[in-house]
Amino acid sequence: MMPWEEWVEQLRRDRTLLPDRLALLVETDDAELETLLANAARSVARLHFGNGVYVRGLIEVSNYCRNGCYYCGIRSANRGLQRYRLNKVQILECCRIGYSLGFRTFVLQGGEDPLQTDDFVEEVVSAIHTIWPDCAITLSLGEKSRESYERFFRAGASRYLLRHETYDSAHYRSLHPPGMSRDNRLRCLDDLKSIGYQTGTGIMVGSPGQTVNHLVDDLLFIQRFRPQMIGIGPFLPHHATPFAHEPAGNLRQTLRLLSILRLMHPLALIPSTTALATLSPEGRTRGILAGANVVMPNLSPSSLRSNYALYDDKACLGAESAEGIAQLQSQLESIGYRIDWGRGDFGDV
Ligand code: SAH
Repeated sequence: MMPWEEWVEQLRRDRTLLPDRLALLVETDDAELETLLANAARSVARLHFGNGVYVRGLIEVSNYCRNGCYYCGIRSANRGLQRYRLNKVQILECCRIGYSLGFRTFVLQGGEDPLQTDDFVEEVVSAIHTIWPDCAITLSLGEKSRESYERFFRAGASRYLLRHETYDSAHYRSLHPPGMSRDNRLRCLDDLKSIGYQTGTGIMVGSPGQTVNHLVDDLLFIQRFRPQMIGIGPFLPHHATPFAHEPAGNLRQTLRLLSILRLMHPLALIPSTTALATLSPEGRTRGILAGANVVMPNLSPSSLRSNYALYDDKACLGAESAEGIAQLQSQLESIGYRIDWGRGDFGDV
């Protein structure tokens, strides 16, 4: 018998654990351990956030991308994809619909689209900020220069999501094409944080070649970096990528990691991700029961949504969509939670 109870309690109390113990929590497929982790993580989340779950409206602004990440379905080499790029009017229309539904955070996510220039992003952010000054604007547009991040921040963006994907440089190289590096990713994250963004980072669980030691390094990196937001979801294959035939990440391991991250970062904003909801019908609710406190329904124009195909069968309907907010509401109620419509700025809890 492993002393799971003692270790989980230690993790909750100290917000950290020795690396070899973390490794065992990450790799051990044990129902009793999972219940202990989820219960502890959930009670920490409830202490700080009650039974509220924040919602963020996700607007996928472009599926053009100059990069060729081996896992990602919108990589430039994928010729089988209908490409789209939203213009300013379309993005503002998504926000208008979202605002009337009650959203007070908009997340603009996209591929690294050279034609959505810094001028364009600045103009759109500034327009959203002027029209809806009570809303938070989150960007997730990939790697940019410090100057670009500064311009977007001055225009009114206050949050940025950029997963580090994996802390190990060699593993990073095995997931990304030449020209992309772990070090540049970390440079971006340091820039974002020092500019003053509420910064989000995170990983895919079960990406090809990932080991338990990589995951422990990821946990320890996140602990040192202290992001305000942490995104974690299973790797899911996309048929038109080099990883088409790789297995999907493991649901239970993803949930264990989510709970560990909650215990290490009691106040962090941790979404129950679309990838989790895609992997399993109960993915979203299980994420919340494992300590997540955010969901990000899709606000993109419904006719274009299926083209933002990061992986196969990506969920974008029902409770995963802005139109399905009532469905999300009842799903949350069925597990004793409710939507919190607040901006949920880090630090104002
Ligand atoms: N261009 C932006 C947005 C990328 S998409 C950026 O680089 O940050 C957002 C996240 O989706 C990525 O960070 C990655 O972790 C995740 N993702 C991409 N492809 C995926 C796949 N096949 N399975 C699971 N998650 C994936």
